[in-house]
Amino acid sequence: MPDFPRTSRNRVRRSPKRGHYDRQTIYAILDEALICHVAFVQPGDPSPQPFAIPTLHARRGDELLLHGATTSRLMRHLACGEEICVAVTLVDGLVLAKTVFNHSVNYRSVVLFGKGYPIESRAEKLAALQAFTEKILPGRWQDARLPNAKELKATAVVALQIEEASAKVRSGPPKDEGEDAGFPTWAGVIPFAQIALAPIPAPYSSPEVETPDYVKAYIRDLNHLHKLGE
Ligand SMILES: Cc1cc2nc3c(=O)[nH]c(=O)nc-3n(C[C@H](O)[C@H](O)[C@H](O)COP(=O)(O)OP(=O)(O)OC[C@H]3O[C@@H](n4cnc5c(N)ncnc54)[C@H](O)[C@@H]3O)c2cc1C
Repeated sequence: MPDFPRTSRNRVRRSPKRGHYDRQTIYAILDEALICHVAFVQPGDPSPQPFAIPTLHARRGDELLLHGATTSRLMRHLACGEEICVAVTLVDGLVLAKTVFNHSVNYRSVVLFGKGYPIESRAEKLAALQAFTEKILPGRWQDARLPNAKELKATAVVALQIEEASAKVRSGPPKDEGEDAGFPTWAGVIPFAQIALAPIPAPYSSPEVETPDYVKAYIRDLNHLHKLGE
């Protein structure tokens, strides 16, 4: 799979060595992240106001699947084919340097650009919702009641074709140089991880219905998620 081209839109300027344009790096970050932020400006707005809206996402090949209420401004805007920018961020740790100036965070982030199109036929919508659900919680689609006609009508599904993208990755220890490295304070990294805690059954859950293994053992299984997105 070819890298994304470097353009004036997606080229990482500050710390360019942290920039990545290959699909493998970019897609691994998209697949691991549960949420993204979608940024857009509505055309025809007399005083253009940018909005950034957090939402769930799932990748399917070179597309990002997004869903929501048909009445939501976000979904209506996504479906109209205007340019959109999406950001995804994974925070891997706090980086404590000896100087305040050199403090940082370890992270993996993606910024991507593309245009959305609505997925409208019943069969395609169900297939997209299945891919979306399985991406977020593998095993759930087959266990839950599937959407009925009314629910499908109330749900908009949009695929965003990824035109350009970049990743930026910072990892490793802090960087203090010269006499700062000897400053008498602790320096290092506080690593972060996204973990799921023990599941809590709904108040109306029957004790006879066992908690499924995929709920008990929920983790963001990265290899599995990546395969689903291929
Ligand atoms: C968790 C986190 C915390 C951060 N904290 C700070 C902070 O406190 N201060 C600060 O100045 N910067 C911070 N950054 C870095 C910030 O995201 C930008 O990279 C930075 O503002 C430099 O942008 P630029 O001027 O090089 O590029 P811009 O001109 O702003 O962007 C040009 C293009 O580069 C690409 N790009 C830029 N940044 C990223 C990115 N992070 N991920 C993927 N693609 C990117 C995009 O395609 C973008 O369109 C943080 C990043 C993360 C993920």
